Amino acid sequence: MQTEGVDARRAVEELKELAYLTGGPDGARRVAWTDEWREARDWLRGKLEGIDSLEIETDEAGNLWATAPGDSERAVLLGGHIDSVPQGGWLDGALNTVAALEVMRVLAPRQRPVTLRLVDWADEEGARFGRSLFGSGAAAGALKPDDVHNLKDRDGVALPDALLEHGVVLDRVNEAGRQLENAVAYLELHIEQGPVLERMNLPLGVVLGTFGVERHAVRFTGQHAHSGSTPMDVRRDAFIAAARSATAFRDDAAARDDVRATTGFVNVSPAIVTAFNGLCEMSLDQRALDPDVLADMLSKARQASERVAEEEGVSVEWERLWQIEPIPFDGELISLAEEAVMEVSGQSHRLPSGPLHDAAEMARLMPTVMLFVKSLRGLSHTKDEDTPEEDLELSVRALHRLAEKSVDWAAHRS
Ligand SMILES: [Zn+2]
Repeated sequence: MQTEGVDARRAVEELKELAYLTGGPDGARRVAWTDEWREARDWLRGKLEGIDSLEIETDEAGNLWATAPGDSERAVLLGGHIDSVPQGGWLDGALNTVAALEVMRVLAPRQRPVTLRLVDWADEEGARFGRSLFGSGAAAGALKPDDVHNLKDRDGVALPDALLEHGVVLDRVNEAGRQLENAVAYLELHIEQGPVLERMNLPLGVVLGTFGVERHAVRFTGQHAHSGSTPMDVRRDAFIAAARSATAFRDDAAARDDVRATTGFVNVSPAIVTAFNGLCEMSLDQRALDPDVLADMLSKARQASERVAEEEGVSVEWERLWQIEPIPFDGELISLAEEAVMEVSGQSHRLPSGPLHDAAEMARLMPTVMLFVKSLRGLSHTKDEDTPEEDLELSVRALHRLAEKSVDWAAHRS
């Protein structure tokens, strides 16, 4: 397989060009369904039009597609999102798109057994209307027009009206699903947005999937009473039970590999200095890639809270606030991605993704994998988001190698 042709330096220069065009001292401004997003899109479309043999179209959900036909209509997809949050970073989403553009430059003109397609998803961030993964969710059928029909932005503009300004009819967005009919693999490069690769001093990693989440409210009920008159051994202190439980949740997660447990909110009542608290409600957000591990974490957390509640003389009840299954990526594509990363950087690491990505929508439908490139200080969704340029170049080369391998892999699958 040839690797010549991919100009990773050019991709980095184009990222800077895009940042200059649609960013400034406060960061990137490519919020979906705005004029600056359109400007970024026009810039990308212009670049794609400069590549011979590409067919370019926008689908019913506003996703931009560039297709390099192969001998078969079966297609390998390279995904990205050029939209950003307000005051966002120069790499989140843009790297995926611009790296895929460079890969298309090299691979599109060549004869290939399968079709190769770049997709720039519309509104991954949900920054204006609060619904993330809009374009990919619409294509995948996970986003239902009725569920988002009443969304408004901060200025009171309704989502359907904003979409119309960009030629998108909300009730028709699921028709974008036909774009996925012949798709056999989905590849996405993204910045890590966390500190793991930087701490390991590695430029690149292979993503195993996106975390499942269990999110609960945990309520402890005791009896509040006077802080002076009540001896320590007869108290039924709901806050103390909650605090002991929170450290148990944390310790359980810390003893496992690559999982998370977070207590985010804590509310107490009566919350005055002269009484201990009879009521305490707190949240627990648990994340893991393995559904059995996630289920075990939840059951251990319940047991811990019940044991502590009994010791503290209070009762405890649990209420599920939200849940999503883990979304594992494809084992064979993970292996190909690892080969690609090894070839360009000599070492690789497998890690889960904390944030959701468009790849999570695609992984429900087809074999999917993601590459992560190191984020400095784990920062993202801020103008301080950054990655060393040499690592960005490695990431473009790794995506190119992965695309080549995936094309061969797709050609040999029945
Ligand atoms: Zn992103």
